[in-house]
Parts: sequence; structure tokens; C-alpha cells
Amino acid sequence: MLLDHLQGKLAAIEAQSLTRFTRIAETGTAPHQTVRGADGVTRELLMFCSNDYLGLAAHPAVAQALIDGAHRYGGGSGASPLVSGHSRAHHEVEAELARWFAPHIPSARAIGFCTGYMANLAVITALGDAEAEIFSEALNHASLIDGTRLAKAPVKRYGHCDVEGLRALLAASTARIKLIVTDAVFSMDGDIAPLPALLAAAEDFDAWLIVDDAHGLGVLGEQGVGSLEHFGLCSERLIVMGTLGKSAGLAGAFVVAHETVTGYLLQAARNYIFSTASPPAVEHALLTSLQLMRGDLGRERRVHLRSLQAQLREGITALLSRHPSLTWRLAASETPIQPLIIGGNAEVMALAATLEREGLRVPGIRPPTVPQGEARLRITLCATHTAADVDCLVAALERCV
Ligand code: PMP
Repeated sequence: MLLDHLQGKLAAIEAQSLTRFTRIAETGTAPHQTVRGADGVTRELLMFCSNDYLGLAAHPAVAQALIDGAHRYGGGSGASPLVSGHSRAHHEVEAELARWFAPHIPSARAIGFCTGYMANLAVITALGDAEAEIFSEALNHASLIDGTRLAKAPVKRYGHCDVEGLRALLAASTARIKLIVTDAVFSMDGDIAPLPALLAAAEDFDAWLIVDDAHGLGVLGEQGVGSLEHFGLCSERLIVMGTLGKSAGLAGAFVVAHETVTGYLLQAARNYIFSTASPPAVEHALLTSLQLMRGDLGRERRVHLRSLQAQLREGITALLSRHPSLTWRLAASETPIQPLIIGGNAEVMALAATLEREGLRVPGIRPPTVPQGEARLRITLCATHTAADVDCLVAALERCV
């Protein structure tokens, strides 16, 4: 009975061209990987889909630090952080991140999590108790949405970047604790939330601003501190989640906020208390990758990323103007996430498959991740791409027209 039920659901997913499947990366790190596709064929692919924006996953110093960490601490952490899983390396990563955010959040303290997904669930469920009300941006990441679903607080949704709509909801709220929740960089659109205006709204209505900076950390700001540095923000009302699986090139996540907030998370966040701490070798390597991210190498890579972004946008804009009947649209994005909106699900998947046969991996993103009729190629750029790689992608897209 269950199997029939699930087979029916799978057939419905297939009928809408919404089936998802995994590929197997045999070797390599983005942007060059040898990948076995769903068709069983193994190809050398030039990847435009990794979130390893600074290319740190493949940096030799990071790999060496991982080895050194494994020699010092072994493999897994063996227990949750409050039992025995919290190593010197975990402690130092948290201290380093607190230093990064000190100019932006008074009395900043960081607390580590295994993944960004877990960190988002943790912060929203711990703070979003029955006395709170949550104000959630329409295009928030699934992990933020799941956090709001698990929280006891009622949830109001405001429109994408609609600060006036948010202010109206805040004005009507009688909750003692008001939590605004937003992505800093929207993961499927690449645009940046109007954080200064959101923070002003938080200040005017005695609310707190929870910012998911998964795609801003390492990418935005002169030193790569992310969206708060990009906008020059400082307030004790800011609560930031960052993942270390994207631009930091490893894994893990953190929440950084006023020490009272993170101190409370340590007592109350079930995802922190009841889950095995991340492997200490990974934390040990994070110390190296954080240093690289903030130093000269990170700065140079951010400059290169921005030039790749400009080159890609110019190339695709010129392509679109050569083919005025095309209904493709390049999203207005100032980040390495550069979505090309195609429209139909089958259409975007056919395009992604053609590109893959040509040796380019650009994922097609379909509903419910994006709205109906707005299926897209989610192109992401990494600092380890070259200008020739970007030319290659634009030329391949032109052959698909
Ligand atoms: N927030 C956003 C905006 C993300 O894109 C992601 C990753 N897809 C996460 C949170 C979750 O982070 P992690 O991959 O570390 O679980």
C-alpha cells in the first residue's frame, strides 16, 4: 500500500518534469570534476554550480590543515558539544568569528553548528517561542522556512524585499518579541536583501533581525565578512547565521549575535544540545580557510569573482540582444549567483542536459524551489573559474538558442 502510494507520487513528479537525481563526483573539486551522470556516462565537467565561491575547497593549505587536524584529533568528535565534542579547534573557530563580527554586533559571540540548515532551525525555534512573532521574507531559504514551521511563534510572511509591507505588519503586531527573518543574498535569485532598511524597521518597531548570510560570507565586503560589512551595519539587534560549507570550502555553520543571544542558544537550541559536534579536523582546517578568506588571497579572489560576474553578465546580455525573440531573462544579481530564467520545467532541463553533454554542468532549478513558470539555470561563479571558462559557457548557451 505504501509502495503503491509512493509510486503514484513519483509518477506525478515525473509527469511534471520535476524528478531530481544525484550525480556521482568521482574526483576533483569545482570547477573541474569528473562526474558520473544519471545516464551512466562519466564526463569531465566544467562546473557552474558550486557554492565554493572562493575556490578554497581545493586550496592546498586547507587540505593540509585537514590532515594535520585528523592527526591531532582523529576522525569524529564522538559526542555532542556539551558532552565532549567541543574541541580546542571548535573553540578557536567560534572565537575567530566573534572577532570578525565585533565591528558589526556589540558583544558578539559565535556558536558553531554542523550545518547551516541546523543552525537556522536552532536559532528560529529557540528564539521563536510562544511570546514571539516571526516576520519571514517571501523568498527565504527552505531551512529558514522549516525553522518558522517548527517554532511555536506565529508567522507572518512579507513580500520579497517589501520593507513597507514588513513595517505595516510590525506596526500591527502586539508580540513582546518580534523576529524578522531574511536571507542576505537570495539563493535562487542572487539579489541582496535591503538590510539597512530592514534594520531601520527593526529599530523603529523594537524587533530583531535574523540574517542568513550563507551566500554573502566570504563574498561580500572588502574583508569577506559578508553582508554586514558590505552595508557597514552595526547593531545589537543583528543575529547572523553563516554556513562554512560554501565560501569557506569546508562544512559547518555558526550563529553570531550579542553574547546573551548565543549564550541562550547554548542552553536552549535542541539542534546544538542533541547532535554530535562536527569533526574537529574540519574545525581545525576552518581556521586556515577563514584566514585565507579574510587575507590577501581572499581579497584578490573577490576582485576576480566580480570581474567574472561582469564578464558573464555582459556576455549573456549581448547574446539576448542578438536573439530578441528569446524569452530568457538574466536576473538582476550583483553576486556570483547569476540565474538565467528560462520558463518551463522541461525546457530548462533539456537545456541543462544539452550543456552537460557539451561538458558544462549548470543545474536547472524548478518549482517548488522557484515559482511556476520561472524555472532557471542557476549559474554560480567561483574565483577558480577563468575568463576563458566564462566565454566557454556563453558560447555554449549561444549554440543552444
Ligand atoms: N541558507 C541558505 C540561504 C542556503 O543556500 C543554504 C544551503 N543551501 C543553507 C542555509 C544551509 O546551509 P548548509 O548547506 O550549511 O546546511
